[in-house]
Amino acid sequence: MQGVKTILNFFKKIISSVRNETEPVAAKNKIYSRAEHNISRSMISESALKVLYRLQREGFEAYLVGGCVRDLLLGREPKDFDVVTNADPDQVRKVFRNCRLIGRRFRLAHVHFGREIIEVATFRGAGEEQSDKQVLNNEGRLLRDNVYGTIEEDVWRRDFSVNALYYNIKDFSVVDFVGGMADHKAGILRLIGDPEMRFREDPVRMLRAVRFAVKLGFKLDSDCEKAIHNDAQLLASIPSARLYDEALKLFLSGYALQTFEMLRHYGLFQVLFPSTENSLAIEENGFPRLLLIKALENSDNRIAEGKTVTAYFLWAAFLWESVQILAKEKMKRGEVEYVAYQDAASEIIARQIKSTALPRHISMAMREVWNMQPKFNARIGSKPSRLIGHPRFRAGYDFLLLRSETGGADPELAAWWTRYQNASENEQRKMTQPPRNSQNNKSGRKRSYHRKPKDSAPKTES
Ligand code: ATP
Ligand code: MG
Repeated sequence: MQGVKTILNFFKKIISSVRNETEPVAAKNKIYSRAEHNISRSMISESALKVLYRLQREGFEAYLVGGCVRDLLLGREPKDFDVVTNADPDQVRKVFRNCRLIGRRFRLAHVHFGREIIEVATFRGAGEEQSDKQVLNNEGRLLRDNVYGTIEEDVWRRDFSVNALYYNIKDFSVVDFVGGMADHKAGILRLIGDPEMRFREDPVRMLRAVRFAVKLGFKLDSDCEKAIHNDAQLLASIPSARLYDEALKLFLSGYALQTFEMLRHYGLFQVLFPSTENSLAIEENGFPRLLLIKALENSDNRIAEGKTVTAYFLWAAFLWESVQILAKEKMKRGEVEYVAYQDAASEIIARQIKSTALPRHISMAMREVWNMQPKFNARIGSKPSRLIGHPRFRAGYDFLLLRSETGGADPELAAWWTRYQNASENEQRKMTQPPRNSQNNKSGRKRSYHRKPKDSAPKTES
């Protein structure tokens, strides 16, 4: 028994020495005093300051860390403020009444101030003695990581050096263990430790690399770039629900177009949207690509103007061409048009949710936008006024505009719908009157104006 233990310890030591190759145990830090950086307390949210001071008063260490420090150094307003401390979650809970503990993989405290939430994490640890609490899968991915430690250990759990700067409430200094400040000044995203290993631990870091590079205008360092080129496929092992969350951050943050180009450059886009990637490869006269690019561009412009953007509209644009291609194949095989489009939409959505899960309300809304497209062709009688009352009319119409701007629909049709929306009731009635000669045709159209719609199923109209 003792022999087995000795052998086990021997292997544990080897594993630990490999793991720590790039993780010095006693990291040497550099401290930037208040005079050496530009973060002032007036830039920090009052709630975050309250949390920091309160922890400090209770005798704990308390720092801001991560994206907020990085953004404050750039003079930007952070999205949120993350706090780290040496207090464990239960101790944090005792300090704040307005506090809830969350998280399974790593327990965190959320301190609530009205609608604002300050996330408080305990320093994450590492090392041999806790390795039974850290679980890696056979590809080296970190599955569970519930180990507390010191700030010197916490730093090695973070992804990029610029995300690993700690703002110390005690003396308002910035503590830097990994050259994050120099990288920040040089505009470089550098992974802490060996990029291949860090991406294997968590392949989502590859998406984060792209997101931050685009958002901050930083460059990826060359080792990080190489590793992404090699390891892009690792992303396929990530649960689709997490990939959907990441994809939302990637495409709804105001830099969708650049993000799309960069993801494609690194071979990451095809993991997120395999059908779209295929449809891009068989583009005709550049149309599919144009539609998607225009959708991404519009979305970025809307965000810049302070307007809202929706995931379903973008996802509808991502997958539109794939649906068209598949529906046409089905029609060649003899399916009638309406059925072919419905089946194609279902199939493409079913394929997509294997990569990025889609909440049901999103996939339903996408289908509504798609289904509305053939309905725009019906301009006579009561159908236009019914269509305009559809809860997703605006999105459907915007999609029609997108198609018309990129060669997929008649611009005259889109212009008609623009006029129709702005017209008075009287004008609208005139616009939807049948041409004179068909008014004489009593048996045909006229009766159909008064017919109740059988159902709301979309039909391809001419
Ligand atoms: P954002 O501006 O998008 O909030 P952020 O850097 O704050 O950017 P978060 O997802 O809020 O990103 O994470 C906060 C911090 O936690 C990061 O700055 C990083 O230090 C660490 N972190 C988050 N996700 C990971 C990850 N997958 N691997 C390693 N460290 C991570
Ligand atoms: Mg953040």
